[in-house]
Amino acid sequence: MSVFEHINGGGYEQIVFCSDDHSGLRAIIAIHSTALGPALGGTRFYPYRNEEQALVDVLRLSRGMTYKAAAAGLDLGGGKAVIIGDPKRHKTEELLRAYGRFIETLGGRYITAEDVGTALEDMDVVRRESRWVTGCSHTYGGSGDPSPVTAYGVLQGMKACLLEVFGDPSLKGRTVALQGVGKVGHALCGHLVREGAQVTVADADVDNLARAVSDHHVQTGDPDTLHAMEADIYAPCALGGVINDDTLSELRCKIIAGAANNQLARDEHGDKLRDLSILYAPDFVLNSGGLINVEDELRGYNRERAMKRVEGIYKQLQHIFTMSQEKRISTARAAMDYAQERIRKISRIRLVRTAEYGPSSDH
Ligand code: NAD
Repeated sequence: MSVFEHINGGGYEQIVFCSDDHSGLRAIIAIHSTALGPALGGTRFYPYRNEEQALVDVLRLSRGMTYKAAAAGLDLGGGKAVIIGDPKRHKTEELLRAYGRFIETLGGRYITAEDVGTALEDMDVVRRESRWVTGCSHTYGGSGDPSPVTAYGVLQGMKACLLEVFGDPSLKGRTVALQGVGKVGHALCGHLVREGAQVTVADADVDNLARAVSDHHVQTGDPDTLHAMEADIYAPCALGGVINDDTLSELRCKIIAGAANNQLARDEHGDKLRDLSILYAPDFVLNSGGLINVEDELRGYNRERAMKRVEGIYKQLQHIFTMSQEKRISTARAAMDYAQERIRKISRIRLVRTAEYGPSSDH
């Protein structure tokens, strides 16, 4: 693979390969864009088959973060990092601190957070070597696990979808097929039940499923066919790529609104959903609550303020639905257009300000 072909083609700014023999660290940090601000995105610790798979993943994920931050109206760019290895076997204090040293060398161009394979405690360790870490424990002034905030944001977005489709944002009596009751899905399930929805959950993990049933008294469905259940809302909160050539024709929901990243296998699937009159809440808008929450940590965390901003997802989605209708494009394309337009406008303002008011070179 030509690395530069990948980087240039996708408009990436910087890719950093981090290697430390003593701790066994092999990590890649990808900075897609700092046009709107420092590149913030989590660290994924995953047993990639090879380096190429890790590179492709970090490039794809970092690009997604640029659009997520832009659509959420944050002054952040997009970045992501991957550590190659099995978190259960290879994660040590030494390795995480070595990784933190690399983040520190970037001087704030990249800010990290937790992701698949990393958790709150790991961020506390990385923080010992670098200032550029979010999602730390409350005891360190951090905002803690972002998942419940992500779930709260998804709930707000679901209400915007219900208003759009049924003319009423209430969840009372609405049927929801919830796929994945992990960190986000479990918290979301609690909200939905409290708001009077009839929820059916499915999960590949029997323990997580049992926890949801015991905590929230919900029905269970088959993980392989949940997407085909007749429901007002299908909420994918597990894996990406769940809307694909195979599942599209089986869908029997009116709305798709869930936390999972990259739900559409390809962009065209968003167009197909529009043809089928299924309202799709673009994932990177709907699940931006966690990012909004960790961004707040950068200014001294205030939970009330963060939650207030997360509630803005409701209006944000409404705006995207209007754009989609006016331009006669899918909601997914409307969300992407919105993010790109914001990057273009705001980065231009910044260029102007630097040229006019920046320090002159002759003093
Ligand atoms: P998690 O790992 O805690 O939960 C995922 C759940 O999905 C697990 O219970 C897992 O067993 C289940 N699952 C896996 N494969 C499944 C399948 N085929 N069918 C049914 N269930 C399956 O992860 P999470 O933090 O809750 O995140 C869920 C999704 O939301 C991910 O796609 C993640 O990228 C995205 N997301 C999370 C956050 C956050 O704040 N945690 C923020 C934005 C986006």
